[in-house]
Amino acid sequence: MTNPAPHTISVDAGRLWQSLMDLAEIGAYDDERTGLRGVNRLALTDADAVGRRQVITWMEQAGLAVRVDRMGNIYGRREGTDPAAAPVLTGSHIDSVATAGAFDGCLGVLGGIEVVRTLNERGITTRRPIEVGVFTEEEGVRFGTDMLGSAVAAGRLTLEYAHALTDRDGRTLGGELARTGFDGPTGVRLAPPHAYVECHIEQGPVLAENDVEIGVVTGVQGISWQEITIHGRAAHAGTTPTHLRVDAGLAAAQIVVHLRSMVDSGSYGDLRATVGHLVVHPDLTNIVPARAELTVDLRNPDDARMARAEKALAAFLRELENSLPGLSLTTRRMARTAHVPFDEGVQKVIAQAADDHGLEHISLLSGAGHDAQEIAALCPTAMIFVPGEYDGISHNPREYSTPEACAHGIDVLATTLLRLAGQD
Ligand SMILES: [Zn+2]
Repeated sequence: MTNPAPHTISVDAGRLWQSLMDLAEIGAYDDERTGLRGVNRLALTDADAVGRRQVITWMEQAGLAVRVDRMGNIYGRREGTDPAAAPVLTGSHIDSVATAGAFDGCLGVLGGIEVVRTLNERGITTRRPIEVGVFTEEEGVRFGTDMLGSAVAAGRLTLEYAHALTDRDGRTLGGELARTGFDGPTGVRLAPPHAYVECHIEQGPVLAENDVEIGVVTGVQGISWQEITIHGRAAHAGTTPTHLRVDAGLAAAQIVVHLRSMVDSGSYGDLRATVGHLVVHPDLTNIVPARAELTVDLRNPDDARMARAEKALAAFLRELENSLPGLSLTTRRMARTAHVPFDEGVQKVIAQAADDHGLEHISLLSGAGHDAQEIAALCPTAMIFVPGEYDGISHNPREYSTPEACAHGIDVLATTLLRLAGQD
């Protein structure tokens, strides 16, 4: 007996691409810096609401039963032959940053719908139900907490906390859910699915660098954000002798350099450190800075090493403060998430699906946060990454993955979902 051909399914690449391009029209704007069309669809704005209604229309056209929960998370369900079995969940988000492209999040949502369309056309039934989820405010840009909808669905954050969050204009998330009509009736706590698989653009250069089509994501690294404010003393640049200065700008620079030396030391494993925001006051040519504000973004796949890096930074800040009378520092924690390892069994199904589609793959850790890291608290979870052009630039109108790259990812998603939905 010869080996039977492994059962794979391939989606309609053109139809998938068309839905990505159609959704990108909603919230589209002309980006002056790049000269490109970008997407601005912040969570629960009018544009996001139009996008959500479009996605619901597509779900219903694909025969999915749609429900909306009290966080505005949307789920479309395709029934299985055993409706009592826990569903296999896929999905992502369609909210965006203010200067986005067409792919971040949208690929996972529209890809999930495309998988359902393909199963329908082929007349394929599955034992377990398949659900496609759309999570609210993944980006965290408008209400300040990222992965918000999935975090509430998974029980890490409460509905009350989420509803009370406000945007810059003082509007609450709860109010905006009601205003846009997405304050759904369904309870927000998600019953544990059988598994969760999310396909997403990589948003980095590793897949392209390795010349592979598919990334099997092993987990999401830990993230630590803090804001540091340094108080020094304003002084005249010409008349104040150097030994009498309390230069907040100099202290900020020392922190930046020290972080880099921590990274280069190798003592903290695969630590990444970024000071992406740094301002001095009063920000004038001939005044010694009185104050400086900077943010520190640390990433580490190892929680213990992350904790050691944070401690080392805190010790350096104290040292810096003590080194110069008149200098004082305050820190404010902005965000902190632990390393989330993904399920090895689901990773294996993804890797096998990629093999069966004849696609090259590597395993890699996600440098960015995703809804999958929240849903991982509920059920076996993993992610599929597809490469992006231009070093995987994202959160930018230049963000681009080719139609082939997108279809490869969703082919692997389709076969993975089919196999997971057939499991006991
Ligand atoms: Zn995303």
